[in-house]
Amino acid sequence: MSLSVWFDLLLFAFLAFLLVFVFFTVRITNLHKVYFVFHFFMMLWPLCQFATHIVQDVDIQFMYVSLSFVASSMLASGWLLFTLFLTGDDQKVSRKSMTLLFIPAILSSLGAVFNPFYLFTSPKTNNYVDRAYGPLFWLTMIVIAGYLLISLFILLNKVRSYSTTKSLKKQIRIILAGIYTLVFFAALDTLFNVVLTAYFPVIPGLTSLGILIADLFFIFVIMHYKVFDLVSIAHDDIINTIPHGILVLDEDHMIIEANRASQVFVNKKVGDLFDIDLFFTTVHHTDHDAEFLEHYKAKEQGLFHIELLFKQKSELHFILQTSPIFDASQVPIGHILTFQDVSQERRLVQELNRQNELLHERNRSLDRTRLELSKANRKLEEMALTDSLTGCYNRHYLTQRLTQEMNANIQQKIPFAFILFDIDFFKTINDRYGHVSGDEVLYRTAQIVKQEIRSSDILARYGGEEFILYLPCTDRDRAAQIAEQVRLSVEQNIMNLSGSTDPVSVTISLGVLAITDFDTTYNEMYLDDYLNSLFAEVDKPLYEAKNRGRNCIQISDVFHVSQKEIREAEM
Ligand code: GH3
Ligand code: MG
Ligand code: MG
Repeated sequence: MSLSVWFDLLLFAFLAFLLVFVFFTVRITNLHKVYFVFHFFMMLWPLCQFATHIVQDVDIQFMYVSLSFVASSMLASGWLLFTLFLTGDDQKVSRKSMTLLFIPAILSSLGAVFNPFYLFTSPKTNNYVDRAYGPLFWLTMIVIAGYLLISLFILLNKVRSYSTTKSLKKQIRIILAGIYTLVFFAALDTLFNVVLTAYFPVIPGLTSLGILIADLFFIFVIMHYKVFDLVSIAHDDIINTIPHGILVLDEDHMIIEANRASQVFVNKKVGDLFDIDLFFTTVHHTDHDAEFLEHYKAKEQGLFHIELLFKQKSELHFILQTSPIFDASQVPIGHILTFQDVSQERRLVQELNRQNELLHERNRSLDRTRLELSKANRKLEEMALTDSLTGCYNRHYLTQRLTQEMNANIQQKIPFAFILFDIDFFKTINDRYGHVSGDEVLYRTAQIVKQEIRSSDILARYGGEEFILYLPCTDRDRAAQIAEQVRLSVEQNIMNLSGSTDPVSVTISLGVLAITDFDTTYNEMYLDDYLNSLFAEVDKPLYEAKNRGRNCIQISDVFHVSQKEIREAEM
């Protein structure tokens, strides 16, 4: 046979390589790729069987025979791989172990290709259509059976597992039916065409028929359950990579779908029952739990949610959301529950609240300090304006008030008066009862005077045991009247001093100065001088009262000081 014959085969191999290359480099799922290889080997078996029969050349016949057994070994190993991808168990097997899976298939294939000492197969009557099988063939059969048994074991386990969805279980059952059919036909083939070949004529195409029927089962599953449908594959991927836990329950509260993230919240698998009342005993919840459970059980349309906190994992805050599922005729057929981890957000809110509380506390303490400060300020102001012993205003305050009021008094010609009084023989009180008792007498006398005057009047300590009263809007007669009242109340005030058993009383002498006549040349620039002259003037009637024998009033004649005179006196 010339070499040019092999050229076409070379081209075929190259084209096949290109096909495999394209399939393996385009962006389709691994399941697609595995199925493609698997299907390719399925096709090779009947093709090689056919080719064996139509060629006369013994060597080429052998080539097809060995190729068909290479195909069946690869088919068996490919099938195991397909099973792993279909059941999702490929996640559990590492890439390295996945390559190791092919070693027995490759070794069997080498045995079939090299056929050392005709140990795999040998031609009968110089022809491979009619052939005998050696020990390497049986070894290959064991390898193929081994692959099939492992696949069967995986599939049966998956069917029995609670975590397998109902849909996947149905798919596996159909695929199992396909495998049983294939095994049945392959066994028939082996029985009639290998074991009992001496007694029966060759029955062609038994294994090929088995392969075809099995493939029809697979194709039914692929089409009906949309196994290769990118959208449903993506849907599964999305469901499993989403950070929220998702549980789908049927009407009997059995879990029919549980994504990976749901395991954090509910450690349950597909097929388990989900008892919401039991679940609620493991979590802390708000007052709305009754409302939520009522809504869940009533299967009311719409979304409902509640925030929960695990008793065990107290750092895990999550929002549980429920919504019922309805069929086309609006009959409730289950529930979707979603679990959203909001721990991070809650922690941030708690931290924010803590910071806010801290800020509030700082503000409050600042307010307290401000209040204390303003109290202290007020106290200081008071201290600056009042006399600490008697509680009366001091001379400084009186001068301030007079400075404010004097201009208006004079410009509007409002009458006003002063009463200057001095305690009579006060030295004797000090001498007899002591200085401390003297202080008490001063204080109590000031209190008595305060009771006699109007709220608009100002009582100030003038110095020592001398006091001055400023009476705004007061004429001469009213001033005299007030002076008499003051004098009388002091005289009648019998004091029981804390340091003495004797009742004590004092009298006062009073000088009254009433201003009712106003100077037309008044100039506010000379106000201080004017006030000093008034104080000097009211001293005069007091002096006279003392001279008259004390405990009496002396009223100064109507007084007015000319500004002109003050200015002239200054010059
Ligand atoms: P009179 O006024 O009637 O002429 O006699 P007097 O004894 O009151 O004489 P004078 O007014 O001159 O004396 C006042 C005395 O008051 C002198 C001083 O020791 C006393 N005195 C002044 N200030 C205080 C004070 O704050 N406390 C006490 N206990 N005594 C004071
Ligand atoms: Mg005196
Ligand atoms: Mg005096």
